[in-house]
Amino acid sequence: MPSSWSHEVWRLVTILAICLVLGLLQDRVLVYLLLGTSAGLGWYLYNLYRLHKWLAHPRSRDVPLEPGVWGDLYYLVLRMQAHNQARKRKLRDLLAQFRASAEALPDAAVALSNEWEIRWFNEAAVNLLNLRPGQDIGSPILNLFRSPDLSTYLEAGQFGRDLEINAPGNLELKLSVRVIPYGEHQWLLLAQDITERYRLERVRKDFVANVSHELRTPLTVLSGFIENLRHDDTAPECVQRWERPLALMDQQAERMRHIVEDLLLLAQLEGAESRPSQTRVDVAALAQTVVTDAGNCRPEGHAALHLEIGTDRQLLGEPGQLHSAFSNLVVNAVNYTPETGDITVKWYECGEGACFEVEDTGEGIAAEHLSRLTERFYRVDTGRSRKRGGTGLGLAIVKHVLQHHDAELEIVSQPGSGSRFICRFPGHRCIQPKQGQAANPQSG
Ligand code: ADP
Repeated sequence: MPSSWSHEVWRLVTILAICLVLGLLQDRVLVYLLLGTSAGLGWYLYNLYRLHKWLAHPRSRDVPLEPGVWGDLYYLVLRMQAHNQARKRKLRDLLAQFRASAEALPDAAVALSNEWEIRWFNEAAVNLLNLRPGQDIGSPILNLFRSPDLSTYLEAGQFGRDLEINAPGNLELKLSVRVIPYGEHQWLLLAQDITERYRLERVRKDFVANVSHELRTPLTVLSGFIENLRHDDTAPECVQRWERPLALMDQQAERMRHIVEDLLLLAQLEGAESRPSQTRVDVAALAQTVVTDAGNCRPEGHAALHLEIGTDRQLLGEPGQLHSAFSNLVVNAVNYTPETGDITVKWYECGEGACFEVEDTGEGIAAEHLSRLTERFYRVDTGRSRKRGGTGLGLAIVKHVLQHHDAELEIVSQPGSGSRFICRFPGHRCIQPKQGQAANPQSG
């Protein structure tokens, strides 16, 4: 027991002992004991009242100087108060430091509530997002930053990818926006100025598109003349002598034409709206066409082609783009699978959405190449790809088309065990066919 408490107990016992002795001397024990306890009770009530009054406005200079238990209580409360104040000061300093570092950021940072109301923003947000210090706190960000793309982005809640949009009120300024969750139902919106990067990227895209476009006409002229020379009946000797070089020239011109066509398609995909059209695409019918065309492109022989349709769901998207992507996957399977192998094209439900898959029993791909396959001109074996008429752009086209359709490409492969290319389409892109349009799930 602390000494102040034993002191207090002894004081009470002494007072009661004195009352008892006085009571015995005067033959009024009960009266004296009652007087003693009443005096003690009064003393405690008085001290409680003082403590209560002081606690209502605790200030160290007003603390009653009291020995014993009451003095200890005042001291303990004062110590707790000093401790809390030190903690508050530390937190304030930390907050000030955090604000200073956030202010120093070159990117705009805006703290948002769950209802997308602005709670705080830094200096860069004033310049990049046109926010006004003081006035815009508490306003919904979409009232100040009016952009349908930002609104869709916030509503979708899929913040794994960045959003590229124009800055509010300044079409010259391009921003990359990212939203990060923090705390409980709070969000941090970061906006980075990517105007220069965007300009350089556009210059590069325009350059590739223009070069490809300019090459188209000379190539057509060259191919035309080569064709004429190969079939020139007026000089059969000459044709015979030059047959091999002319055939090679024809083959290379054809290859270049394919590369130019693929580059133009890629440029078109890169320049296209981020949200493609919402046409209903009958994937079962499309898959059938793609399979038939892929078989026809190798009349000399190819692996057995099978089609398995497990769902009649349709896709909302751009039919031309989807045709290119699916066709590239099936033609690749035909090119990289021996004639004795099997290729299965599938359309089936997976998760909330649906998957288009091309599975082959071909040569397969080693793990170190998988992550790079969708890069332009990346080939596992350049010589073999060229021999089969490949441009090295097929999977880059597939990746772009899938990105436009909010879909993902998964590649599962092992050398010697074949490959699976799976296009995963999300639920909001997969719809039921209109009544009377239902395609029968089939396999063949
Ligand atoms: P390419 O025109 O060369 O086929 P792609 O971009 O379509 O270009 O494919 C890139 C590379 O991926 C190919 O060169 C090939 O090495 C590999 N590849 C693509 N599909 C398959 C497949 N089904 N089986 C094995 N390898 C494949």
